[in-house]
Amino acid sequence: MRIYHPASAEEAVRLRHELESSQYIAGGTEIMRLGSSISCDSLIDVTALSLSGIRMEGDEIIIGALTPLEDIRISDIVPAFIREAAASAASLQLRNRATIGGNFALRRADSYMIPALLAAEAEVDIMCTEGPKRKTAATYFGKTGCRALLLAFRIRAGRTGENRRIARSSHAHAAVTGAVSEGTYAYAVSGSGVAWGGKESWKDIAFADDLTGSADYKRYLASVLF
Ligand SMILES: Cc1cc2nc3c(=O)[nH]c(=O)nc-3n(C[C@H](O)[C@H](O)[C@H](O)COP(=O)(O)OP(=O)(O)OC[C@H]3O[C@@H](n4cnc5c(N)ncnc54)[C@H](O)[C@@H]3O)c2cc1C
Repeated sequence: MRIYHPASAEEAVRLRHELESSQYIAGGTEIMRLGSSISCDSLIDVTALSLSGIRMEGDEIIIGALTPLEDIRISDIVPAFIREAAASAASLQLRNRATIGGNFALRRADSYMIPALLAAEAEVDIMCTEGPKRKTAATYFGKTGCRALLLAFRIRAGRTGENRRIARSSHAHAAVTGAVSEGTYAYAVSGSGVAWGGKESWKDIAFADDLTGSADYKRYLASVLF
């Protein structure tokens, strides 16, 4: 395993494209854990890039991609339902390391943050080989295999919403997670997928059995979540 330490976002993206079997490392809580879902030959350490922190810019809240979930949980400017989503990572140790960018980029179907960010109609600043770009978070999410570096998330200040998570215990993987914000719904169903849009967008998910429950059980949970 080789670890690279780029000095800029541009260099990080260039390396990610040049090195076929590579990944960024941010909090490292997925990449470094035993039995990780990710395997690669090279790591691109982005932790020295200034991509952490939460600030207001006009009527938007900007959350740097390397911001740990704990900083989001305790923020006094991030909308309450986004803070709740960050708090759903029940372990303080995990929240102190795990970043919002790593969580979103993983595209896990039991993600802490994905439903809240999709429901909030967040935008993302990304660095691509052609330079910096702004996209909807939904567009980035839909582009699996994208090698762009997430730089920041943008959420309209004052955005209201709710976050719901159903799991056997606070520390267990969620069977179903959902969020609604100002008429936009998003659902993440363990072992099955993520869908967003209208209230019944959960119907687009191909429900499958896994250790959190049967397909029928999770379909029922999604149907009554809101
Ligand atoms: C005990 C335990 C339980 C967990 N439970 C859950 C769970 O229930 N739900 C859940 O969603 N996750 C869970 N995780 C996984 C992980 O902790 C979180 O998803 C975390 O938010 C990942 O963030 P990170 O910064 O640690 O990512 P890393 O491990 O550093 O990276 C993860 C992935 O994200 C990519 N990445 C990182 N930063 C960026 C960026 N800025 N731009 C583009 N790509 C990037 C990397 O290339 C890599 O593919 C768990 C982990 C542990 C150890």
